[in-house]
Amino acid sequence: MVVVHIIGGGLAGSEAAWQAAQAGVDVVLHEMRPVQPTDAHHTDGFAELVCSNSFRSDDHEHNAVGLLHEEMRRAGGLIMACADKHALPAGGALAVDRDAFSQSVTEALEAHPRITIAREEIAGLLPSDWKHVIIATGPLTSPALASALQQLTGEDSLAFFDAIAPIVHAESIDMEIVWAQSRYDKPGPAGTGADYLNCPMDEAQYNRFIDALLEAPLHEFKDWEKVPYFDGCLPIEVMAERGRETLRFGPMKPVGLTNPRDPETKPYAIVQLRQDNALGTLWNIVGFQTKMRYGVQAEILRMIPGLENAQFARLGGLHRNTFLNSPKVLNPDLTLKADPRLRFAGQVTGVEGYVESAAMGLLCGRLSAAEAKGETPILPPATTAFGALVGHITGGHIEAEAYSGARSFQPMNVNFGLFPPIDVKKPEGLKGRWRGPDKAKAKKKAMTTRALEDLAGWL
Ligand code: FAD
Repeated sequence: MVVVHIIGGGLAGSEAAWQAAQAGVDVVLHEMRPVQPTDAHHTDGFAELVCSNSFRSDDHEHNAVGLLHEEMRRAGGLIMACADKHALPAGGALAVDRDAFSQSVTEALEAHPRITIAREEIAGLLPSDWKHVIIATGPLTSPALASALQQLTGEDSLAFFDAIAPIVHAESIDMEIVWAQSRYDKPGPAGTGADYLNCPMDEAQYNRFIDALLEAPLHEFKDWEKVPYFDGCLPIEVMAERGRETLRFGPMKPVGLTNPRDPETKPYAIVQLRQDNALGTLWNIVGFQTKMRYGVQAEILRMIPGLENAQFARLGGLHRNTFLNSPKVLNPDLTLKADPRLRFAGQVTGVEGYVESAAMGLLCGRLSAAEAKGETPILPPATTAFGALVGHITGGHIEAEAYSGARSFQPMNVNFGLFPPIDVKKPEGLKGRWRGPDKAKAKKKAMTTRALEDLAGWL
């Protein structure tokens, strides 16, 4: 009998089990709770929400996560069906009664005739007769399994903490202030010598920025969440605490760069942005990992010349988080290059969030079921939210090696910067350039319409 084994009954594993079973394949779902607890889960229910009870915006016309909700609904997703059933009033967001939600996922999985549930930890390398396996063990993958995965993929292919630098949407960067140049005009293996965007600061701007960093409130950690600092990747506020000049001799050093608009004046400090996806729609702020709280973080980053109106695809953070260096170790269909029997789903692949994790579970459940039935699995189009996330995980992202050898693959929520760009027509009668919120809204609508049309073909 052909069986799909799924390890982990969180957001991703529960959805994967449902999809594979609905596709007519027998599933064994291995979940270690309650035999072996994690530091964040409190129950033995499937799809437990460990923190907030929100699935974020439900606007599928103008919001990327809302679009992902809709794609999952149209694909017959269990997580969305249970979330809709147990929705609570939350304005434009989808918030759920967490206990009722998890209970209804648990009941649906337990009642499915094709699903067998095994309450056990998978603690080492997998039996050779398991031919179709989905690993969905999440940010708190048990140490025994993590170490087996490390043996399989190599020491540097599994991270235990994320160190996230903020990412900015390209179209919100003020190109009349920043300029493109690599330090000392070095082209690098994949570059032109003008690969970075540079934001110049004078002495007064630098001092105001350091003062703001020193005063910023930080995200509080629970004991088990405490992140060890590595000297190569300290949060910017910790660098500022070590001395006012530390950043100027670190990620903000102004050497090897000349502002073409004012070549005579040497900036006192320079913040650099580096392209973050192949589409060129997203740029990360180099070396700016931070634990500053989100609201104040955005305010402080907008003090950087050229980023006054920055829109962030992702703010910076540091968390305990087990995830693969997916662009390096996974195939485009989310199987492991070193052992293609194994497919990865959920947060362990480098997506971030409940909804994104469940979406990757949905996809993997379908792909593995197709394989188990001897069919050829077909990936979703890049224009859909499913496809945009797969692009982030396996390839749309530019690997750090192409630049400096530093690792830059970090988890990310779904956002419009991950989708192929789209043009929208200027409204008739409008004089001059069309810009601003109306244009941004029209673009989002065009992207979500395209996504749902293309999804229909794939489904
Ligand atoms: P999980 O939902 O964590 O599921 C993984 C499952 O695998 C668990 O049930 C675990 O018990 C099981 N497991 C692990 N190892 C093994 C093993 N060896 N054998 C068998 N079973 C195993 N996201 C949000 O969108 N909003 C938030 O507010 C939020 N807050 C978070 C707070 C914390 C403290 C953490 C750690 C994460 C938070 N996240 C949040 C991210 C969140 O974990 C993920 O979004 C989501 O739960 C990931 O889904 P998953 O299925 O990949 O992993």
